Amino acid sequence: MLASIGIFGGTFDPIHYGHLRLAEEAREALSLEQIVLIPSGQPPHRDAPQTPANHRLAMAQLAATANRSITVDPAEVESATPSYSVLTLERLRRQLGPARPLVLLLGADAFAGLASWYRWRELFALAHIAVANRPGHPPQTPSAALAAEAEPRLAARVEDLFGAPAGRVLPFEMTPLAISASLIRARLAAGQSVRYLLPDSVLDYIRSHRLYT
Ligand code: ATP
Repeated sequence: MLASIGIFGGTFDPIHYGHLRLAEEAREALSLEQIVLIPSGQPPHRDAPQTPANHRLAMAQLAATANRSITVDPAEVESATPSYSVLTLERLRRQLGPARPLVLLLGADAFAGLASWYRWRELFALAHIAVANRPGHPPQTPSAALAAEAEPRLAARVEDLFGAPAGRVLPFEMTPLAISASLIRARLAAGQSVRYLLPDSVLDYIRSHRLYT
C-alpha cells in the first residue's frame, strides 16, 4: 500500500504553531508519511497577503527544518499565475501518480468556504480532505452545495482513506489552538510579544527583516 501524503496550503503570513500542530497531529492521526507545506503565491480567495511571497516561503522553510516529515513546496510562490488548489493538486497527481492517497489538510474555517474555490468539486477527485477543528472562528454551517457534496463522502474511520487515492472527507480533532496569523500580525504591529505563538527561528526572521511593523 502506498503511503499517504498530506498537502497543506496557506498564506502562512506568518507560519505559526497552529499550522505546525495541525501538520504534526494530522501526520500522526492520519498515518501520513509526509506533509507538504505549500505557501500560496497570489491567493485568489482572500485579500493579498501583507508579506511578499518570498518572505512567507522563507518562514515556512525555517519552521519546517526541525521536522523531517515536513517539506515545503515553493511552486505556488514561484508561479506567475494565481494559486488555485485544484491546479496544485493536478500537478502533484501528475508527479506522484494516480494511486497515491493524497490528503488535503484544511482548518474548519477554510473547509466552510470550500464551495467558493475555483473548480472546487474537482478537488474530491484529486485528494481526500481532512478537516481540523479550529477554535476562535465561529462555527459555520456549510453551504447546501458543499454539504450535498461532502456528506456522502464522510469517512467514519481513518482506514477509509487508505483504500482509495481520493474522495473521502474526514474531520479530525487536534489540540485546540486559537492562534491565527492575523492575531500575530496585530500583536506585532502593536509592539506586543508573539513569543511561543510561533517558532523562535520565524520570530528571528521577522525581526531581522522588520516584517509586520
Ligand atoms: P489569517 O489569520 O491571516 O487568516 P491563518 O492563521 O488562518 O491566517 P492561513 O495561512 O490562512 O492562516 O491558514 C492556512 C490553513 O491553516 C487553513 O486551512 C486554516 O484553516 C488552517 N489553520 C490556521 N491556523 C489554525 C489553527 N490555529 N487551528 C487549526 N487550523 C488552522
